[in-house]
Amino acid sequence: MSRAVVALGANLGDTASTLAEAVAEIRALPLTRRVVCSDPIESVAITASGPDPSKPGYLNAVALVETQLAPTVLLRALNDIEARHGRVRLERWGDRTLDLDLIVYGGVTSDDPRLTLPHPRAHERGFVLVPWAQADPGAQLVGHGRVADLAARLLGEGR
Ligand code: AMP
Repeated sequence: MSRAVVALGANLGDTASTLAEAVAEIRALPLTRRVVCSDPIESVAITASGPDPSKPGYLNAVALVETQLAPTVLLRALNDIEARHGRVRLERWGDRTLDLDLIVYGGVTSDDPRLTLPHPRAHERGFVLVPWAQADPGAQLVGHGRVADLAARLLGEGR
């Protein structure tokens, strides 16, 4: 079993139901067990030019997943769950019904643009770090230190 961390986000439709359904679908994946989800948090939409409060806000959560699915297989399964929730990828930073990102997969590192691990922007995203630290207070992010410390620093900067 490997420990993966999945970030969930939604800013269109019934976001709370979408996140709850997505967690249930992750829990139902083959070769996967012990899915622990953080409480959901609200965050401001981030676009290519920065935070945009005029867009619908996001509901975010982080799920800790124990799985035997290989990283690429897990990402494909997450993309299938996104597709089932009607995600339309019109623009890279556009609104979405459901966005699922693979943040870390055990200690695996990869610079493949199709699956970069750890996720290259996780260390600067409060909406990933804050719920991750809540779900796993001892978590470490390779190259960046304790997730709880990173989250506290971002909150201190008002992000
Ligand atoms: P986004 O629209 O921001 O969710 O980005 C999706 C694209 O990022 C897809 O083409 C993925 O193959 C790629 N990608 C690279 N690394 C990751 C990762 N760690 N988690 C999710 N998608 C990733």
